[in-house]
Amino acid sequence: MTLVDTPVITAGGPSLTQERRLVTAIPGPRSQELLARKAEAVASGVGHTLPISVVAAGGGVIVDADGNSLIDLGSGIAVTGVGNSAPRVVEAVTAQLHSFTHTCFTVSPYEGYVAVAEKLNELTPGAHVKRSALFNSGAEAVENAVKIARHFTKKQAVVAFDHAYHGRTNLTMGLTAKNIPYKSGFGPFASEVYRAPLSYPFRDGGLSGAEAAGRAISVIEKQVGAENLAAIIIEPIQGEGGFIVPAAGFLPAIVEWCRANDVVFIADEVQTGFARTGAWFASEHEGIVPDLVVTAKGIAGGLPLSAVTGRAEIMDSAMAGGLGGTYGGNPLACAAALATIETYEEDGLIDRAREIGAVLIGRLNALRTADPRVGDVRGRGAMVAMELVDPASGAPDAALTSAVAAYAHANGVVVLTCGTYGNVIRFLPPLTISDELLIDGLSVVAEGLKHA
Ligand SMILES: *Cc1c(COP(=O)(O)O)cnc(C)c1O
Repeated sequence: MTLVDTPVITAGGPSLTQERRLVTAIPGPRSQELLARKAEAVASGVGHTLPISVVAAGGGVIVDADGNSLIDLGSGIAVTGVGNSAPRVVEAVTAQLHSFTHTCFTVSPYEGYVAVAEKLNELTPGAHVKRSALFNSGAEAVENAVKIARHFTKKQAVVAFDHAYHGRTNLTMGLTAKNIPYKSGFGPFASEVYRAPLSYPFRDGGLSGAEAAGRAISVIEKQVGAENLAAIIIEPIQGEGGFIVPAAGFLPAIVEWCRANDVVFIADEVQTGFARTGAWFASEHEGIVPDLVVTAKGIAGGLPLSAVTGRAEIMDSAMAGGLGGTYGGNPLACAAALATIETYEEDGLIDRAREIGAVLIGRLNALRTADPRVGDVRGRGAMVAMELVDPASGAPDAALTSAVAAYAHANGVVVLTCGTYGNVIRFLPPLTISDELLIDGLSVVAEGLKHA
């Protein structure tokens, strides 16, 4: 059955009314209709967090088919940092759409791809000579970074960390730490992938960065050996694993060990990149210069694009034809990326990420002081989370976390959970959100905590 009435709002972007507005229960009747179709048409393994039927989004809101306007504190998982349907992105993609949509860059090149590579080479940490290659998804870029590191070093082993998330393709599933839902039953996984312990200040008994790095390096030396190790890959702040910020000094010590041992250091900045943490890249907060940087999510305002950027001698080691793909660096996605990067620059969104972070940390710390179930508040810039625990034992409280998220969803706030133990609520608002909406959204989360 199709409902006759068409929704009132179809145009998105920042001109949407910036308010939380509920006119039906969540999900409303039109959303329920879509969800019923989804259940019949879409594989159940493709889940969803918030059961609405989206018709428009922009600024800091998402509007559904029933006319509800929800506060967006997730940015489609850190993708729409510049907001949905950001004006420069819409304009650039529309213009590109009218010129050409595809040639395959490896058949016939075009300027947009080269311009994105130039921008990435300029913006990523380090003054060394760099090269970039473009792909479609974060996982695809991670796979390519590993491929390139292996080709360059002529070694095979790769080390990833506890709580890591690097994607859902075969190699990246193997790199990812969490079993359910990412790995269970999907093996066999790629060989030559090893895991090292992370620095997790809230849960590792207060190891210093240097101590945690020493522990990780010892595991790597004992169980793998530098002579076999092509690359270490790490998220400078872990995303899906629980917004874990390693203790100061951890990342620099790992980088230093890599340099001394001819191991390629790969920073997976897919979630942390592009203004999100109050810097272009989270590596900057620790002053580290990765050999390779993997980017995706925030790069192109919602269009699918990803990249590997790094030292020219490493990037150039693969033979021509060894890297690429039919769609990698699609012209529409490249136009979107250039417009997105210009928007971060021109609209001061790196500073805005820091301001948003100050509001988030301030409000969440106030919650923590008042409520011992908020065990930890952490993050950088507009990438902040709270970890919910049983106050008596400190044990992770996933049920409480689900209850708070469900309350927020029912009351018009899009929040995401994460964490190995499912007990972390993460905040990744678009950098175009107003303080008013942000504070309203956080008040709903605070109410949710009270009710739970
Ligand atoms: C999301 C994510 C990926 C995977 O990106 P996809 O585009 O979903 O393939 C890889 N690494 C990190 C850190 C991520 O957050």
